Amino acid sequence: MKLETAARFNTKCVHAGQEPDSATGAIITPIYQTSTFVHDELGQHKGFDYSRTNNPTRAAVEANIAALEGARSGIAFASGVAAINAVASRLDPGDHVVVDKNIYGGTHRLFEHVLRRYNISFSYVETAIPDNVAAALTSDSKMIYVETPSNPLLGLTDLAVMADLAHSHNTKLVVDNTFASPVNQNPINHGIDIVIHSATKYLGGHSDISAGAVISTNSKIKKILDSAKNFGGNLSDYTVWLLERSMKTLHIRVKEQTRNAKLLAKMLNKNDNVITVYYPGLSSHPSHDIAKSQMNDFGAMMSFDLKENVDVYTFLESLEIIKPGMSLAGVETTVNFPMKTSHGLLTQKERDNQGIGDKLIRLSVGIEDYQDLYDDLDNAIKKSIK
Ligand SMILES: *Cc1c(COP(=O)(O)O)cnc(C)c1O
Repeated sequence: MKLETAARFNTKCVHAGQEPDSATGAIITPIYQTSTFVHDELGQHKGFDYSRTNNPTRAAVEANIAALEGARSGIAFASGVAAINAVASRLDPGDHVVVDKNIYGGTHRLFEHVLRRYNISFSYVETAIPDNVAAALTSDSKMIYVETPSNPLLGLTDLAVMADLAHSHNTKLVVDNTFASPVNQNPINHGIDIVIHSATKYLGGHSDISAGAVISTNSKIKKILDSAKNFGGNLSDYTVWLLERSMKTLHIRVKEQTRNAKLLAKMLNKNDNVITVYYPGLSSHPSHDIAKSQMNDFGAMMSFDLKENVDVYTFLESLEIIKPGMSLAGVETTVNFPMKTSHGLLTQKERDNQGIGDKLIRLSVGIEDYQDLYDDLDNAIKKSIK
C-alpha cells in the first residue's frame, strides 16, 4: 500500500514518511546529527549532501506533514515565519499581493517592515468577501494570501471560491492553515496551491517547539525548496525529532481539542455574562455554512465577548486551570486578551474596524475535561462582575 496516498488520516499520522531505519531497523527515525554527508565519488551522494538543504530526519517529518495535507512534498522550517518568508521570497520587486486583513501579526510585520522595502506591495482586504479580493487584484498581483479561520474572530474565507478567483487571474493562492490544522481542514483539496503551517501550534501541540512547514504539489515546491536552501531557516534535527513525535498523536489531540471546543462554545453561548461567541461550529456564526462545506470539523479556537460589567483583568487573574498566554494550540487550554496582546499595537479605531472589542477573549482549547474548563471560565466570570 502506498501509505502517503492510500491510507486513512489516523494511519498516516502514525506511519506516513516513517520507514524503519535501513541500517539498524530502529522504528523511530534516528536523529541524523550531521551537517555533511560523504560522497561515494565526487558529486555522487545518496540523496543527502548538506543538512541545510536536506537531512534524513527532516525528510521523514516533511513526508509525514505533506501526506496529511494531501500533497506530495513539504518543507520543514525553524518557525512559521521562516516558512512564510521562504514562500514570499518567490515574489519579485514590483509584484503585488492581496492579503487577508486579519492575518497573524508576525506575517503583517514581515510584509510591511521587510518585503515592502523590496518594492513589493500589499493590499489588505476582508477576504471573506470575494468581491473585495477581485476589486483589489491588479495586473501585478502574483499572490493571494489568506488565513482561515482567522485570528482572533474566527472569520472564514471560502477556499474554493478564492481558488477560482486566483487561478482566473493567474495568481497563486497561499493559505495559512495553522488555526484549523490538517485534522480539520485540507486546503489542497479545495484547489489551493501552497499551504503554510506554524508547526509551533497544532502540529507540535505541546507548547515546546518552534517550527513551520510549507506544503504544495511537487512542481511548485521545487522553487520554494530553492528559496529554503538559499535562506537558511531549516529546522534543527533535534526539533524535527520532537515534531515527528508530536505528529503521531496529532489526530488524537486535535480531535479531542475540537470535541471540547464544540461543547464549550455551546455552553458559553448560553452563559448570561457572555455576549457573543465566535466559533465556526455555531449555527449563529456568519460563515457556518462555509465551515460545514470546507472544514472536516470546526477546530479548537474560539473567541467570546464578555459582558460590559465583567472586569477582564479580574477575569484573567481568577482563572485557575486556564493560563493566559500568547501562543495557542497546545494540549493545555490558554486564553489571550487580544486588545492588550496580539492587537495591542493597533489604535482603538483600527480595533473597532476589525470588530475586536475591549472585552474580547480568545480561547485555545486543550485536552482537559471540558466541564473543568467551563467551571474555571464560569467561576472566573462570576468573580469579575462589577
Ligand atoms: C503563530 C502563527 C504564525 C507564525 O508562526 P511562528 O512559528 O511563531 O513563526 C503564523 N500564522 C499563524 C496563524 C500563527 O498562529
